[in-house]
Amino acid sequence: MKVLVTGGMGYIGSHTCVQMIEAGITPVIIDNLCNAKREVLNRIKNLTQTTPVFYEGDVRDETLLDRVFSEQKIDSVVHFAGLKAVGESVAKPLEYYDNNVNGSLVLARAMRKAGVKSLVFSSSATVYGDPASVPITESFPTGATTNPYGRSKYMVEECLRDLFYAEPDWSITLLRYFNPVGAHPSGSMGEDPQGIPNNLMPFIAQVAVGRRDHLSVFGDDYATPDGTGVRDYIHVMDLADGHIAAIRGVGNKAGLHIYNLGTGQGSSVLDMVNAFTAACGHDVPYQICPRRPGDIAECWASTAKVEADLGWKATRTVEQMTADTWNWQSKNPNGYE
Ligand code: NAD
Ligand code: UDP
Repeated sequence: MKVLVTGGMGYIGSHTCVQMIEAGITPVIIDNLCNAKREVLNRIKNLTQTTPVFYEGDVRDETLLDRVFSEQKIDSVVHFAGLKAVGESVAKPLEYYDNNVNGSLVLARAMRKAGVKSLVFSSSATVYGDPASVPITESFPTGATTNPYGRSKYMVEECLRDLFYAEPDWSITLLRYFNPVGAHPSGSMGEDPQGIPNNLMPFIAQVAVGRRDHLSVFGDDYATPDGTGVRDYIHVMDLADGHIAAIRGVGNKAGLHIYNLGTGQGSSVLDMVNAFTAACGHDVPYQICPRRPGDIAECWASTAKVEADLGWKATRTVEQMTADTWNWQSKNPNGYE
């Protein structure tokens, strides 16, 4: 089976390519390298003894997509490519809608032309906005998003839903990720954010390795057990395996398939700091700061539907997430450079 992986050089895409190769699936990558390094290809090769076919280019380039589909016999597409920084999306909404929404439309059009109608889309728990309760099931309302990034994910979900209603022979899978963290256990692949990290785990990792002097904890007055925000952190290797379960389970079944990819467990900011401290063996300095605008108190997944339908369940613990992140960060203090 051959799968086109858009954004396959990025954080989640690269780990998914490794797991695909291990599972006997052939990934073909298209990535414009706007947020990834070419070195990722070497790391995939060193881990799997396989270098995936790589097209350097943009998913909005329909001519390139036509060429990829004519040169490769693609069975399914996993669409990771997109921009993902919430703060940047507020400053650059046009760039975000163009890349994330328009990019998805161009891709779907090229797929239809090529007769490839199996698509897995990287969505996000952000489409649920501030949920009325936790755990969040897939039937919770979506759309009350608070920033252009979140709205772009919601818009693509709605576009793909309409596409499925109009052309019900498609298999469209919307995977709503909770908080992906961690790294390949070898320490040779991981998250390599450009500039100051927005997300908690890479920030903690950079403090632990000495690149930053402390973590700002955004609020300790939420209605949570220790007052800090609670999220559902999921190991990137589990997330990668979730894509394979989706491709194998529903990728060849016409339908609109929607799944949460999380662990079903919530952890607070301080839980993550404590777990990281244990993993790296020294304190991670932090300061309590005001809440970050737009943040919610708690967000964690119900995993009942994905477990029942796909037989997939996240198995890696918070201890493994922090240990693998530390292994990656300490072996590659400056990321892939
Ligand atoms: P990432 O930035 O590491 O990977 C995205 C990849 O897509 C990068 O390699 C980038 O170079 C490439 N890319 C971007 N725009 C492109 C374009 N127009 N054409 C071709 N390539 C392009 O991000 P990630 O963390 O691996 O996220 C992958 C997907 O999962 C994204 O769609 C993101 O929105 C979604 N997601 C991520 C998270 C998270 O916390 N990491 C959570 C929920 C959803
Ligand atoms: N957070 C924090 N300091 C940081 C980054 C994040 O305290 O430097 C908190 C944030 O307020 C939230 C949690 O960590 O409660 C996860 O934030 P992240 O940005 O990683 O994910 P998201 O907000 O998208 O769930």
